[in-house]
Amino acid sequence: MKKGITILGATGSIGISTLDVIKQHPHEFNVIALTANKQVKRMQELCIEWSPLYAVMADSDAATQLEQSLKQTGSSVKVLSGVAGLNLVASLSEVDMVMAAIVGSAGLLPTLAAVKTGKRILLANKEALVMSGKLFTDAVRQYGAKLLPIDSEHNAIFQCLFFDEAALPSKTPENLGINRILLTASGGPFRTYSIEQLHEVTPQQACAHPNWDMGQKISVDSATMMNKGLEVIEAHWLFSIPAKQIEVLLHPQSIIHSLVEYIDGSVLAQLGNPDMRTPIAHALLWPKRIKSGVPYLDLIKTAQLNFEAINFNRFPCLKLAYEALNSEGTATTILNAANEIAVEAFLQKTISFTSIPKVIETTLSQLNGRAASSIEIILEDDKQARELAQQIVNNS
Ligand code: NAD
Ligand code: MG
Repeated sequence: MKKGITILGATGSIGISTLDVIKQHPHEFNVIALTANKQVKRMQELCIEWSPLYAVMADSDAATQLEQSLKQTGSSVKVLSGVAGLNLVASLSEVDMVMAAIVGSAGLLPTLAAVKTGKRILLANKEALVMSGKLFTDAVRQYGAKLLPIDSEHNAIFQCLFFDEAALPSKTPENLGINRILLTASGGPFRTYSIEQLHEVTPQQACAHPNWDMGQKISVDSATMMNKGLEVIEAHWLFSIPAKQIEVLLHPQSIIHSLVEYIDGSVLAQLGNPDMRTPIAHALLWPKRIKSGVPYLDLIKTAQLNFEAINFNRFPCLKLAYEALNSEGTATTILNAANEIAVEAFLQKTISFTSIPKVIETTLSQLNGRAASSIEIILEDDKQARELAQQIVNNS
């Protein structure tokens, strides 16, 4: 039987890579729904190619445009809009798995809708987990959903920890004998820049990642290393590992995607070419392996794997993320919201690259986090943090 899949964020970098893997396995998957924000033209092309049952545009004007242009082609795709449309296609009974690949906090509610209907969740949208932490992982257990990480580091850790289906939901570190998790980081495009040089960098430079081809927001996050900070928080929640046992290691080649050190001294790592189709293919039918289309790794050609310690002074965002995780509650919600505002302001050239951590730090210092005990509290603190961060941007 084919597996029904909804792809949230189908027009993005992860969405397109997912469709590329699915295309290689036409007998395994049935694309039920595709979603996007505003990219009408791209979505129209995808609808013609894939004929899903549903296409959802988060933006209602975009939905109207898509509906009109699809009508002219005689397409029978049903067009929906807004959060209600996203939630609906994430929870349809004919959907077995949901690729959560919306960027940012907009992905939280549809991903939770998929969790609450017990789907297999392929989680790329790390911001959703960073915002909601324990509430998210508790819901996964409560509703019997299966959570498979797509983020390459977390997918690597998952591969070094779990080998069979009985492993989900994740076990605690004590019964697996883990000493440390080592998250690798390429260091992004500015790894060798001095702090002075960082003041002048442009959005275009920040989005030109040396190893990965990604959306704009995660590319800027990689350049500030907030991406790695969000990933530390993500690892904490996915694998129930305390922050002090999660370390970040610079590895410029992005060949080792992360490592797990066990208490007996064994270290397991997952390696591969830096291409998101590998973690996507791994998670789609896990524990069954399928081809991804990624060229096999040539270690002779790679020749060198280098490692460096992190300098937290050069990457203040990473430090802020550890601090937010340690202070618990909605501090990570506030961190994520302020980061989204600051990154957007940098992309719009309203603030400089080095102002990004300043906006986040000021927001965190002016708002008190609290216990993240309900989705309402999380959404309220997210909204408040966005408003405050925007004010800080406007006054800077
Ligand atoms: P992207 O910008 O290329 O695509 C984002 C997708 O989300 C698009 O389809 C867009 O239409 C949709 N979207 C944007 N705003 C929306 C909104 N308000 N409502 C509904 N949909 C909206 O981003 P990406 O690089 O594919 O990243 C997606 C997620 O995956 C992010 O959370 C990112 O951190 C994570 N991720 C990406 C990569 C990568 O290699 N690209 C690697 C690891 C994790
Ligand atoms: Mg990653």
